[in-house]
Amino acid sequence: MNDDWRAVRAELQRLETENLLRRQVAADGPSGKIFESGGRALINWSSNNYLDLACHPRVVAAAGQAARRWGAGAGGSRLITGALAIHRELEERLAALKSAEAALVFSSGYMANLGLIRVLSSPAPAVNVPVYFDRLSHACIVDAAMTAKAGWRSFPHNDPHALDRLLSRAVATRAEYFSAVVVTEGVFSMDGDLAPLPALLEVCDRHNAVLVVDDAHATGTIGPEGRGSAAYWQVTGHPRLVQMGTLSKALGSMGGFVAGPRVLIRLLENRARTFIFDTALAPPCAAAALESLRLLDEAPDRWKRLVANAGLLRDALRRRGAAVTSGVSPIVPVVLGAADRTLAVDAALRAAGHLAVAIRPPTVRPGSSRLRLTVMATHAEEDIESLAEALHAAITRADQSEKGHNL
Ligand SMILES: *Cc1c(COP(=O)(O)O)cnc(C)c1O
Repeated sequence: MNDDWRAVRAELQRLETENLLRRQVAADGPSGKIFESGGRALINWSSNNYLDLACHPRVVAAAGQAARRWGAGAGGSRLITGALAIHRELEERLAALKSAEAALVFSSGYMANLGLIRVLSSPAPAVNVPVYFDRLSHACIVDAAMTAKAGWRSFPHNDPHALDRLLSRAVATRAEYFSAVVVTEGVFSMDGDLAPLPALLEVCDRHNAVLVVDDAHATGTIGPEGRGSAAYWQVTGHPRLVQMGTLSKALGSMGGFVAGPRVLIRLLENRARTFIFDTALAPPCAAAALESLRLLDEAPDRWKRLVANAGLLRDALRRRGAAVTSGVSPIVPVVLGAADRTLAVDAALRAAGHLAVAIRPPTVRPGSSRLRLTVMATHAEEDIESLAEALHAAITRADQSEKGHNL
């Protein structure tokens, strides 16, 4: 029998053999502090819903009201019939949050990066510049960079000197436009560390490059009032900085955005394919994000608790001997190495009532599988202590059974 799906089956078999097969974790409730699955309630350490706003009564009510007022869907792209007043209002609020001239909302962060980076690398038909991105950048940055007609390259993680050398060698400064697009993440999604924006901007100044910072994990989490990484480093007004972010993480909704100079926003409206040929953000998502932004303003205690919890988690892990990098972000990776070891610790934690989903290649580099722990503003100190204790026990047990194998 002719089996046209043989290559597909073989690939699935390979993934299974290498402990890399993914399975969705079916949730019976929202991704809040408590994660219900298969009749069990686990404490959630794997959500990007950092401020626990996705289920906040005011955010949910705003989404419902928007559905009644504007409909469940936008009904068209922004340039045809989908430009609703609520999109404008959201964009004004985002521009203010990021201290930028203007902002533009996309249907997701993925779409925002694809549209933005492609346009920056080719702002006009005859102008093409290369893209340089930090080696640990998110998949959508890599996908976007690969569309650059003038080519792309990654640079060593958080290494402005290496970037400087690469740009010196490769890039001819053009008088009429930037000579390169440099992309990094404000807070790295799998490592939780921050990009050194001042040093990167200095390198970009030297080579006339534009810097894009992806604040998917920094918006609502770091900087004064959760304004993000540029505010944290006090570089918001820098003329060659473009801030990108998502509404789907700390803001508890869905959608992406770019905040920057008005001329850039106008060009994106005209040339970003993922803006032009994509249905506008659904009204309930826009309204939910808008309400989250209001809450961020009115109740700063929430992000203060998030910052405090991030410190408590790092402390609790360190006290039990875990090698945890210092930092201020709510992402705390515990790198365990091999995928099977990480899966074993993940399973032991689930048995103890905690959900910390194992992160394996290709999301992270081979040999650096990890538990990517994320704290939320609503975790209590007892939750954090209980997790640290269970994690310590699980790692100890996994190591003992590995030794058993070796004997
Ligand atoms: C999640 C994420 C995105 C994509 O955002 P979505 O709104 O989920 O599409 C982009 N960049 C980074 C660093 C992310 O973590």
